[in-house]
Amino acid sequence: MERISKSYAMIHAKCPRCRKGNLFANSMYGLHSQKMNAACPYCGFVFEQEPGYFYVAMYASYALNIAEIVATVIAVYVLTGNTDSPWLYIGIIFAMAVILSPFNFRYSRVMLLYWLTPKQVKYYSDIKPLPTYSGKN
Ligand SMILES: [Zn+2]
Repeated sequence: MERISKSYAMIHAKCPRCRKGNLFANSMYGLHSQKMNAACPYCGFVFEQEPGYFYVAMYASYALNIAEIVATVIAVYVLTGNTDSPWLYIGIIFAMAVILSPFNFRYSRVMLLYWLTPKQVKYYSDIKPLPTYSGKN
């Protein structure tokens, strides 16, 4: 069985145990709402490991938001040199927060599953797919 790298699996939001099944049922940017699979479609791993598990992802999302705000403010200052009006910064920060919210939603959960869970999820490269696995995701 081929091994799938952790960075590839994180970027593509794959299951931390098999790195083949998708964490999310829909695409990041689309007309559908953000929907996370309850269990991995490939190996059956239940993503919500305990009740309220994904509340911690809010803190990871907050950290992502702060990093994006700091990067945005620096980029706006370098590009425009604006020191007069705070409204340029506020408007762009608000727009970035709205545009990047699906990204933050996804990758805060990915960070939680891959990095922030104290009892790390082990990767098994030789897991067999569930009988219900269709091969689509
Ligand atoms: Zn899996």
